[in-house]
Amino acid sequence: MKHVTTLEELTTALAELPRPIGFVPTMGFLHEGHISLARRASEECASVVASIYANPTQFAPDEDLETYPRDIPRDKAMLEEAGVDVVWIPTTEVMYPAGYQSWVTVEDVTKPLEGARRPTHFKGVSTIVAKLFNAVRPDKAYFGQKDAQQAVVIKRMTQDLSYPIEIVVCPIVREPDGLAMSSRNTYLNAEQHQAALSLSQGLKLAQAAFEDGERDANALRQIVIDRVNAEELTDLQYVSCAHPDTLEELEGDVNRCLISMAVFVGETRLIDNVLLE
Ligand code: AMP
Repeated sequence: MKHVTTLEELTTALAELPRPIGFVPTMGFLHEGHISLARRASEECASVVASIYANPTQFAPDEDLETYPRDIPRDKAMLEEAGVDVVWIPTTEVMYPAGYQSWVTVEDVTKPLEGARRPTHFKGVSTIVAKLFNAVRPDKAYFGQKDAQQAVVIKRMTQDLSYPIEIVVCPIVREPDGLAMSSRNTYLNAEQHQAALSLSQGLKLAQAAFEDGERDANALRQIVIDRVNAEELTDLQYVSCAHPDTLEELEGDVNRCLISMAVFVGETRLIDNVLLE
């Protein structure tokens, strides 16, 4: 596996790769969730490029950019093992050179859910993903359903800006106890980890109710709220029952919906979701 930093090094490395090229963007401190994307890319594509970059413009000033966990040697070993050919680890000088002032904004689908609580987040995400796409020019790009709204935003941007890239969304990878894998799980102590299980358990209860015929959006939301609020260490930010494509909040009977949520456990903000259909 080649490790490249600058745009020139990347371009040289890309010239040698057979197509189709699969691309897996990450912020590093990798786990099985990220690796599932890299494996899928390596099954479906002749070459795989991954990037590791904790993009500062998608973190608000009060968020965890400074403390975001890092372990590049371990990440590189995991990517190599998963079949990645080139890992691009740009610096901020490469991604945002002095005088930087250009942005990609996606409108309606960035407004609710995460966008309502993190108002600058998706402007950072869409801009960095556009820049990564421009540099890597992949045939396919792999994202996780874990960040459900991000996947919707990236699909929208790809279509709207005419990128000739197929977006592949891969299922959420969970710990054996149900906790959705996240680089941020490393912040949780044992007690907080236990409390954090209420996210996936709440979603499972809502899914079971849906499978038993519950269709009311409010009732489905309430099942998740009650499970999370039963834990002392959780501080629920939102539970949504929304249209999976438009992300508009739903009321009354639903046939297809995305139940998604954000919960603070101590200082750590966790998200999780399930698609019911
Ligand atoms: P991140 O490093 O958090 O920016 O994540 C990089 C990519 O991995 C994104 O497309 C995420 O949605 C995806 N991802 C993160 N956690 C998981 C998970 N538990 N299961 C599947 N994909 C994930």
